[in-house]
Amino acid sequence: MRKKIVIGNWKMNTSFKEALLLTEEINTLITKEMETVILVPFTHIKSLQEKCNANVIVGAQNVSQFENGAFTGEISAEILESLCVEYVTIGHSERRTIFAESNKIIAEKLAIALKYKLKPVLCCGEALEIRKNGTYISFVENQLKDSLQNVSESEMQNIIIAYEPIWAIGTGETASATQAQEVHLSIRNLLEKLYNKEVAQNITILYGGSVKASNAKELFSETDIDGALVGGASLNAKSFVEIIKINHEL
Ligand code: PEP
Repeated sequence: MRKKIVIGNWKMNTSFKEALLLTEEINTLITKEMETVILVPFTHIKSLQEKCNANVIVGAQNVSQFENGAFTGEISAEILESLCVEYVTIGHSERRTIFAESNKIIAEKLAIALKYKLKPVLCCGEALEIRKNGTYISFVENQLKDSLQNVSESEMQNIIIAYEPIWAIGTGETASATQAQEVHLSIRNLLEKLYNKEVAQNITILYGGSVKASNAKELFSETDIDGALVGGASLNAKSFVEIIKINHEL
């Protein structure tokens, strides 16, 4: 059975003090049976790992495509591995659009993350004009084909995919469960073609884009939606844990 999970993406939010408080609240609200990952600013990783209980895993939001060397301001997969970080997002739309990360760079980041045994959360998703012109399925498929070209079948076991339509991120506008399910199923079909049925059935595919406690149940009830990547709502411990609970109970 594939893994169901809700992952929180704090983005560039929380002072150190706020991060400690938020983690403490999440720790208190989460029960033993639940599990979650929080993707926090790099500067908070070590201290939050020490604070988190076993069900709350601290991950990173980005990793460099370079192994090491003169890359001021970058964080390598090796540095993350040395901190025992497991999960890292790669290809988030904010990285693609604001920091001009191409599918080629994303493929390089995936390769180095996998080399250091990290678990990439590979994001994909279309902008509003692509949704409107109806080419979103082939757009997402091409993003994935280009990014996964050097990823082997066995490495796929360590990857989570997050479908995040850009028009739904931070906008309050969620894709409907039917809209999300359509793309999730197409991703699974693509992975069956690129790899095999087992890879396609075993991979966790998360939905991301304005997920809240109020829309989580509808989304998580779809066959091919295994959980969520949550931005805004993950900064509030109560709403975040409520989303985790909904996913756990379904
Ligand atoms: C995200 O940052 O990946 C995200 C989905 O954000 P939000 O939940 O705020 O739309």
